[in-house]
Amino acid sequence: MAKFAQWTIGDVTVTQIVELTFQGLEDFLPDATPEAVLPIEWLQPDFITPEGVLRFSIHALVIDTGDQRIVVDTCVGNDKPREFFPDWHMLQTDFLSDLETAGYPAESIDTILCTHLHLDHVGWNTMLVDGKWVPTFPNAKCLIERNEFAFTNDESTNEDIEPWLRDMNRTVMADSIQPLADAGLLELIDNDHRICDEVRLIPTPGHTIGHVSVEISSKGESGLITGDFIHHPCQLVHPEWSVSTDYDQQQSRESRGRVFSAIADTPTLVIGTHWPPPTAGRVVREGTAYRLEI
Ligand SMILES: [Zn+2]
Repeated sequence: MAKFAQWTIGDVTVTQIVELTFQGLEDFLPDATPEAVLPIEWLQPDFITPEGVLRFSIHALVIDTGDQRIVVDTCVGNDKPREFFPDWHMLQTDFLSDLETAGYPAESIDTILCTHLHLDHVGWNTMLVDGKWVPTFPNAKCLIERNEFAFTNDESTNEDIEPWLRDMNRTVMADSIQPLADAGLLELIDNDHRICDEVRLIPTPGHTIGHVSVEISSKGESGLITGDFIHHPCQLVHPEWSVSTDYDQQQSRESRGRVFSAIADTPTLVIGTHWPPPTAGRVVREGTAYRLEI
């Protein structure tokens, strides 16, 4: 039986459903060389290998308020053609049965929130049934920030952008977003949207144009689901390190600086969208930067 990490924030629980863990991606975060990360002692053994290679995870986070079940980011998904990312191409995992085992059958989900529209955050929005992409969560509305949707939609039709990116956006829109629109399940929202009393979005642009993070508050406790404004805990020590796929690297630096300084040395539980187990902790100030306290 699969085991699932779970965190409690007041009356709210957050459950992690892991699709993949992996290590590497040297070109993705080019400043994070072994020489640069090995001296950061707290990154071992969970967040980097003994050789200084970064560890990552792709997972969904289920927020359960008692009244609302919200899935934040839906990973890569099964059967999706993703030729530009061979490790994620035509994936087959037990994600959906793991979700059910954790107590969340697909039909019990009320809301899907995509922090942004990259392929590893929208995949399980749909699944392949009899050769057609159908909504995986038939009773869930899917929330997408409106600028994010407009930009990705535009990129998928714009003949001037790099062909591989245009083709990828076109494919992702067609197999993971459009079927929800066709089913009347898509809802475009503002970047500070409140989903319910306990859950609201905050804008954290830079990685993408309309990127959002998720704030949870209940009974005086608080949590933050990062999305991809930070990919790896080493960026707490080096908030200036941006990933190669950031739409606006300077803006993503500003988002990290703003959020880290606001939550540092507070009890807010930070749950990283690509952080490998243990995936969550509290941000504390150390020198001129930060550290994760697990
Ligand atoms: Zn991602």
